[in-house]
Amino acid sequence: MSIPGCQFASDNTAGVCPEAWEALSEANHGFESSYGDDRFTQTACDSFRDLFETNCDVYFVFTGTAANSLSLASLCRSYQSVIAHQVAHVETDECGAPEFFSNGSKLLLATGDNGKCDIADVERLIVHRKDLHFPKAKALSLSQSTEYGTVYHPDEVKNLWGVTRSHGLSIHMDGARFANAIASLGCSPAEVTWRSGVDVLCFGGTKLGMAMTEAVVFFNRELGAEFAWRCKQAGQLASKMRFISAQWSRVLGDGTWLRYAKQANGLAQALSAGLQEIPGVELLHPVQANAVFAKLPAEVDQRLRAAGWKYYNFIGGGARFMCSWKTSMEDVNALLSKARG
Ligand SMILES: *Cc1c(COP(=O)(O)O)cnc(C)c1O
Repeated sequence: MSIPGCQFASDNTAGVCPEAWEALSEANHGFESSYGDDRFTQTACDSFRDLFETNCDVYFVFTGTAANSLSLASLCRSYQSVIAHQVAHVETDECGAPEFFSNGSKLLLATGDNGKCDIADVERLIVHRKDLHFPKAKALSLSQSTEYGTVYHPDEVKNLWGVTRSHGLSIHMDGARFANAIASLGCSPAEVTWRSGVDVLCFGGTKLGMAMTEAVVFFNRELGAEFAWRCKQAGQLASKMRFISAQWSRVLGDGTWLRYAKQANGLAQALSAGLQEIPGVELLHPVQANAVFAKLPAEVDQRLRAAGWKYYNFIGGGARFMCSWKTSMEDVNALLSKARG
């Protein structure tokens, strides 16, 4: 039975999925070496290498903000800059952490439809100033899936890579919702990351259904050579790391990550189809992952809010509905029936 509430406000309003919870419990026996020097962490890192079909280096931090800002700091020096979309989380929702942890690297904001960086604008930002009075562009940050619930096709990433490579920039991927992007694309995780030029990926665990963990995956291992020190200095090195890594081993190892991501994406499709049947509702972005952005007529918005449904209105001018591992078809139907009035 569905109770109106905050289940559509964000995918981080859901709890911990049973698989991750079980893994936490299974890791809770006896003594283990600390700070990642344990068998759970070894296994988890191997799971990432299997999944990405390459010898990557993997680190675990507690939040997406830490993952993004510490990895970006590894890609550039303080007098260099990072190109990101103007609605990117690194720009709008991290309280200046990327600039703080990089000791001042400036963010340069690119435009582009549906939350995706426009290639011509990225190139413009790279070349428009090369003089020493301006911080030289050194990295491009792409959100996958984007803040507007769209995804970059591997060809789009490769095209951007063509531009960044010729100017010596690295590529960072903010994958707070990477699983939803893969579920949508149906490609291998390797295809849309290192095979398309991505140097470092922040792979989100929390929104996917885990407890307090994000993985930082360096495909370009040289860039991550001193990342462990950054994590420690930033207070992001977990001493009881086994509880983080055990969750990853389980969720990556048995396909849980993709199953939940597909489920959430499917529910977003159902929600957007239902909303579009309501007169006056207008979809604001293509629904390609687990988010639905819609402009709601005032009476629909009031009806939903009065009934206790919670969703964000501050992102992109419309209502944002996020589906998570915990969202069910009953939740979607209950919301739709209230929206219909
Ligand atoms: C949620 C989110 C993050 C991580 O946010 P934290 O609250 O710091 O964990 C990063 N990027 C995007 C696109 C997000 O949606």
